[in-house]
Amino acid sequence: MRKPLVAGNWKMNGSLDSINTLLGGIKEGLGNVSEAELAVCPPAIYIQHVASSLKGTNVALGAQDVNDKPAGAHTGEHSVSMLKDFGCKYVILGHSERRTLYGETDDFTARKFIAAREAGLVPILCVGELLEEREQGITEQVVARQLDAIIDLEGAGALGAAVVAYEPVWAIGTGKTATPDQAQEVHAFIRGMVAKEDAEVAAGLRILYGGSVKGSNAAELFQMTDIDGGLIGGASLDATEFLAIGQACNS
Ligand code: PEP
Repeated sequence: MRKPLVAGNWKMNGSLDSINTLLGGIKEGLGNVSEAELAVCPPAIYIQHVASSLKGTNVALGAQDVNDKPAGAHTGEHSVSMLKDFGCKYVILGHSERRTLYGETDDFTARKFIAAREAGLVPILCVGELLEEREQGITEQVVARQLDAIIDLEGAGALGAAVVAYEPVWAIGTGKTATPDQAQEVHAFIRGMVAKEDAEVAAGLRILYGGSVKGSNAAELFQMTDIDGGLIGGASLDATEFLAIGQACNS
């Protein structure tokens, strides 16, 4: 049985004030989320503040990115051990914004993935196709290439301690959600691809959907066989919406 995960990716949003309001709202309504694990991934500079605010709750903490190197001359970066120091459980890797805006490759993402796993962090590996790739009918090839970057380096077993997030790039922040059938098709493809290598890892792998998920469309997505929760951008900045998405996992 896979425990659903609803993870909020706050991106580069928030202030001390708005974060306090958001966390206050989340903590107040937490009791209504019975099945899903909730996680929040604030900007790195707020991780310590969020960690202390979430103490005593069962909301997990994650980061939005990490460097693949353990320490040294990497101005502006943070390492896996720094995330561990402040109680991070998860780290988002390979988000489409990192890939497209900052030119991060499959290989670089795979190296970060390995560093995160070795440190005991749970990578949330983002995969997904651009609109033109979907239109060309190469969604599966793109997703397979992104996953193979990990599998070729570490074997499918590496995904046993990870989460995959399928995020069609055309659905991120656009208000355009993949239909439940479109999402399920790719999720089933991902699970099938991993199953060819390791059936047990595939059966236990949580595959999240991300791309304009809201309280109003979460339930229809999450009821699909291979969708095990969501990676939530915009809607995770609003406590009521975020909690409604978490509640959509209640049976
Ligand atoms: C994301 O950035 O991972 C995301 C899914 O964003 P949004 O929910 O805003 O589409």
